[in-house]
Amino acid sequence: MVHFVGAGPGAADLITVRGAELLKAADVVVYAGSLVNPGLLKLCRPGTAVYDSSRMTLEQIMEVICSAEAEAQTTVRLHTGDPGLYGAIREQMDALDALGIPYHVTPGVSSFSAASAALESEYTLPGISQTLIISRMAGRTPVPEREMIPGLAAHGASMVLFLSSGLLRELQEDLLKGAYSEETPAAIVYKASWPDELILCCTVGSLADTGEQHGIRKTALVLVGDFLKGSGERSCLYHPDFSTMYRAAEKEGDGR
Ligand code: SAH
Repeated sequence: MVHFVGAGPGAADLITVRGAELLKAADVVVYAGSLVNPGLLKLCRPGTAVYDSSRMTLEQIMEVICSAEAEAQTTVRLHTGDPGLYGAIREQMDALDALGIPYHVTPGVSSFSAASAALESEYTLPGISQTLIISRMAGRTPVPEREMIPGLAAHGASMVLFLSSGLLRELQEDLLKGAYSEETPAAIVYKASWPDELILCCTVGSLADTGEQHGIRKTALVLVGDFLKGSGERSCLYHPDFSTMYRAAEKEGDGR
């Protein structure tokens, strides 16, 4: 059996309780050494076989899993953040399907959640944006033409860019081709939830310069949008005039 487990964004105590239990019980662990906090491996039992996938091909990972299966052992495939975002898990699941090896996915706290937490911000502010766009710049991994940044930026929604901190100049240009202006708030969050976390608040117009000044090239997210300004309108959810399934309105309001 193979468990794909989200390790969380960095801080070792941001793995889920279920993920931690699976790690404790694993016979074999294949972890993404480039981003997963190695401190999490302390949860493993002595004698657990541990492999760093950053030095392995998909074929080599499958070899390790197949050997474990032959011994009826359990493998944890530990991915950074949530495995469902830029985790390359589908190709592993396809390979496991072809081999008839069962698997299960345990979600994790993604770095985009850790970044908004670090900024004490909310992506979905009433009256400002109710949409979060998660994307990346095209790099060595291509992005479908219809998902190029200028098109996504046309919405002016809250946005988080993964895997793009080495392309800040190009990103800045692309964002300005959409609905954002030079003054639109932006932030670079480097190593969210790690001890060396760094939060750089800037604007779209100063994004690339800010990143360059601080030598940001990797392990960072770029957040963009007016949600970073702070409060919008108050929410309907906790408004006294608004009824929900759990609470009647105190007086008849417009029930927005
Ligand atoms: N599955 C992961 C993303 C993996 S892709 C998740 O859900 O977070 C790797 C990219 O994620 C990095 O290049 C960086 O853009 C981002 N990233 C991962 N961990 C991060 C962290 N702690 N702080 C900021 N960005 C992070």
